[in-house]
Amino acid sequence: MRKQEVSALIIGRFQPFHNGHLEVIRNIANRCDRLIVGIGSAQLSHTFDNPFTAGERHLMISRALHDDGMEDFFLVPMVDINRYAIWVAHVQSLVPPFQDVYTNNPLTRRLFEEAGYNVCSAPLFNREIYSGTEIRRRIVNKKEWEHLVPKGVSETIYEVHGDQRLQDITKNHSYEVTI
Ligand code: NAP
Repeated sequence: MRKQEVSALIIGRFQPFHNGHLEVIRNIANRCDRLIVGIGSAQLSHTFDNPFTAGERHLMISRALHDDGMEDFFLVPMVDINRYAIWVAHVQSLVPPFQDVYTNNPLTRRLFEEAGYNVCSAPLFNREIYSGTEIRRRIVNKKEWEHLVPKGVSETIYEVHGDQRLQDITKNHSYEVTI
């Protein structure tokens, strides 16, 4: 019989997946046998807040985790259902069984605790530098951003012309770079 393994779940939108997310995931991977990464708001793409499709984010994250030496993980796209009372059941229906949930979002914490899960904090590493919003602003403003994400992420963004997409869809708006 297999020994009891601990699976941990972390959910984010990863727009895009950056070095701060990677550091959080490395820490979680050290504390569990199997990692499940939920790619949240999977239905959204082609906006400033959510420029990349679920498939593109899947490719970015899988490349970044493989390049980092990780093998035992599941990446699961999750469409929002916007009914908080049944959201945990929705997540359960999509992913392999898990025991621990890592989140910093108070609502997500609350929903999983009410469902009886062990919920742990997962603060983002170097938040002043690693921020999805800031990376998107930098792409829009054609400032350097590649050093803020794993190589597999910048490669994916260039492959799908994600930089040009962000610049096109924000043409009539201004997004100031802050760092
Ligand atoms: P999120 O949308 O990925 O992140 C929201 C904000 O928190 C972003 O500014 C993000 O920064 C930041 N953040 C992410 N991880 C962090 C961390 N470990 N420490 C500090 N800040 C962090 O994540 P979320 O709000 O937790 O939501 C996850 C997904 O679950 C979303 O797709 C959401 O729609 C979904 N959800 C759905 C329902 C429902 O449909 N009923 C209910 C709850 C949650 P970055 O931009 O740098 O990542």
